[in-house]
Amino acid sequence: MKGKEIAKRTTWIFILTTMAWFTSSSTTPLHASDYPPSEIVPIPEPSPEAIQFHRTGQWIWAGSVALSLAIPMIILRTSIGSSVQEFAGRHAYGRVGTVICFVVLVSVIAFGMRLPWNFTAGHLRMKAYGLSEQGAGDWFVDALKALCVNVVIQCILASIVWGFLVVRFPKTWWLWTAAGTLPFLVAGVYLTPLVIDPLFNRFEALKDETLESDILKLAARANVADADVFEVDKSRQTKAVNAYVTGLLGSKRIVLWDTLIGKLPPREVRAVVAHELGHYVLGHVRWGVLIGGISAFGGMFLLDRALRWTISHWGESLHVKDLADPTALVLLMILATIGEIAMAPVSNAISRTMEHQADVFAIELTRDPASVARAFATLQHENLSVPFPNWFYRTWRATHPSIGERIGFANGYRPWADGGKGRYGFDSVE
Ligand SMILES: [Zn+2]
Repeated sequence: MKGKEIAKRTTWIFILTTMAWFTSSSTTPLHASDYPPSEIVPIPEPSPEAIQFHRTGQWIWAGSVALSLAIPMIILRTSIGSSVQEFAGRHAYGRVGTVICFVVLVSVIAFGMRLPWNFTAGHLRMKAYGLSEQGAGDWFVDALKALCVNVVIQCILASIVWGFLVVRFPKTWWLWTAAGTLPFLVAGVYLTPLVIDPLFNRFEALKDETLESDILKLAARANVADADVFEVDKSRQTKAVNAYVTGLLGSKRIVLWDTLIGKLPPREVRAVVAHELGHYVLGHVRWGVLIGGISAFGGMFLLDRALRWTISHWGESLHVKDLADPTALVLLMILATIGEIAMAPVSNAISRTMEHQADVFAIELTRDPASVARAFATLQHENLSVPFPNWFYRTWRATHPSIGERIGFANGYRPWADGGKGRYGFDSVE
């Protein structure tokens, strides 16, 4: 009865949100008129294919969120969770061993349940739209590698929190967990490019030496000295284009996806790298870690309360008897997903602010707003985006300002035109 109520409510949330996005319309483009026409980059019309990709993408997103809630719910309701817990209790050694055994088995079961969806939405669909050239076998190998990485990380976290903290400090486990999140957050952000990413791709020195020296000049202008420039063979997995700048203990790396170099002319590549240098110089990763750390405390506190409340009201029908049960971890996943969706408008707004700052930085650093705008136009074309997505997408999913807004801004932003230096104070080029 109570499980049904949850299902009913979840269904209603999805019906209402889907209705909302189909009745909404997109915003009107920004216009720039005071500059020479050659400097103004028109906002390209999206292709019919891009519009279709965007529309169906909203359903895919809704489906993915629904699955993230439904799969753990099924695992709990059908007593798969409690059976695995019992099995782990009988066969594994000690409490930590039980927790690890439980996490491994449940992760593999959940992976299997989600695999058909992920393969269809994440692989077949991307191939159908020409956004990926990866073979099914390679895709599957990557999916398995990702599963292994996730299982290892989850086992470490779960054995500390569920194997030890929840039993030792049943009232304050959430506080210690939040405090312990910080090193993981820092390690995750800084070590992922160095340790995890090379498991999936090859990093090599940039082949185009002219482009490399151009990029190093740009980096020097942004006060990023002694960086290494790499290209990574992302074309193995995707046709999308991207780049990033990361640094750890004095070593700095500027990483360009090979797709970016292949599809964008050098001036647009420079524009994209300038944007990424903006993130680096403005300390957006540090800000992200700080905000993540602070919200970990609030989030873990709320999760602890929500977990206790859910167990006391619905524990029996979900086969979760006690907070210290490993099955409570599955419930934690459901509640964390709900929290993440509820907070998405806030975290997306923070992300959009940082992205806009990086755009301003790129325009001021390069003093080449037309190339910045053209890079956005190319991105829209290559990634099958639409220039002005509807409000639902913008609120719940958009981590970047829309391409239309970004091109409109680049077309109208020339702080040096009347002798100013702009927000970040770069001198004129040359
Ligand atoms: Zn960015």
